[in-house]
Amino acid sequence: MIDMNRRGLVLAAGGAIAANAVGAPVWAATPQRKLGYAIVGLGGYGLGVIIPQFKNCEHSKLVALVSGDPVKAKRVASEYGVPERSIYNYDNYDSIKDNPDIDIVYVCLPVSMHAEYTIRAAKAGKHVLCEKPMALSSTECESMIAACKQAGKKLMIGYRCHFEPTNLEARRRARAGEIGKLRYFRSEHGFVQGNPSAWRLKKAMSGGGSLMDMGIYALQAARYMTNEEPIAVYAHERTDRSDPRFREVEDMIEFELEFPSGVIASCMSMYSANQNHILLMGDKGRIELEPGTGYHGNRLWVGNGRSEEITPPPGPGATQWAGQLDHMARCVIDNREPIVAGEEGLRDMRIIEAIYRSAREQKRIALKA
Ligand code: NDP
Repeated sequence: MIDMNRRGLVLAAGGAIAANAVGAPVWAATPQRKLGYAIVGLGGYGLGVIIPQFKNCEHSKLVALVSGDPVKAKRVASEYGVPERSIYNYDNYDSIKDNPDIDIVYVCLPVSMHAEYTIRAAKAGKHVLCEKPMALSSTECESMIAACKQAGKKLMIGYRCHFEPTNLEARRRARAGEIGKLRYFRSEHGFVQGNPSAWRLKKAMSGGGSLMDMGIYALQAARYMTNEEPIAVYAHERTDRSDPRFREVEDMIEFELEFPSGVIASCMSMYSANQNHILLMGDKGRIELEPGTGYHGNRLWVGNGRSEEITPPPGPGATQWAGQLDHMARCVIDNREPIVAGEEGLRDMRIIEAIYRSAREQKRIALKA
């Protein structure tokens, strides 16, 4: 499979760099093989969003399922052509080590299970793509990174917006200085959490409330849009603890990030209102996205106000998920680090911990470089 990458080099999947007749660098052709994914957790995201995306991929295919529900797993396997011998449950999961079809395990489980299923996958000799937020704590993130390093396997976090055209175009324009010197960033992310018994509202399973689930998009965007790391956070939380949904986790949390250049990011996450918005203000204009990090229909304006809507160029994949799945597969094929490796998830988790601490202690928390 030959294609042209952005620098105009001719690439062949799985190839090594050589030189063509006119001396341009070329990847020597080797047999094309799509890498095999096992999806762990057939829920709203794993089954509803990720599995249907393999048809859009160039380097990735679905080869195995891990589920606690054998009837559902069998039905999904038959629908997507996964052999019955490649259906696993949480008890016999470690035997994926004997299945050479599986190259990458994609962990789409509640957050409390991310560390365990990532570490077991690495020990089984598989590369891991793990959903966000990476884990319950930075300590768990560190163990996940260590386990993958020790096994010599790649670890990537499911930060799909790094493959989403609107975000990529906004980031490109911000970094190119189109709105001048960036001064202020705003983002609000939230949805109305309806089901009081959802695992997202159980602290032991989610690690926290809206910040872990939705505020993380605002935090990520603040970091990739500014291209800087925050040096301090200040946060405050507003939660109606008499609401049965919020007995264990926060509803609204507002956090401010200070960046070395002087940019301030002001972010809000919530489980009691629907919002999905990113705004960058520079001394020469604004970049605005709304929705900013949706599955579909993200919109982008550049200039002053919303007079000029921009249609971004295509992203790296047919969809943001195909781009993400194929990026991981290419990283394995080419032995490169993913652009959103485990360390990226760990960075977010350390900042999230500082945000919670700031809200708890009601003071500014400086972050270590
Ligand atoms: P769901 O509750 O819809 O699905 C989770 C699945 O995990 C279940 O269907 C089940 O699959 C399995 N599971 C195993 N044990 C449990 C348990 N004790 N309780 C609940 N489920 C269990 O969650 P989501 O699919 O929405 O979220 C999964 C992960 O994906 C989370 O980390 C979430 O943050 C992330 N996510 C990411 C998104 C993104 O845009 N990047 C969007 C949505 C979610 P089975 O029945 O097969 O065993």
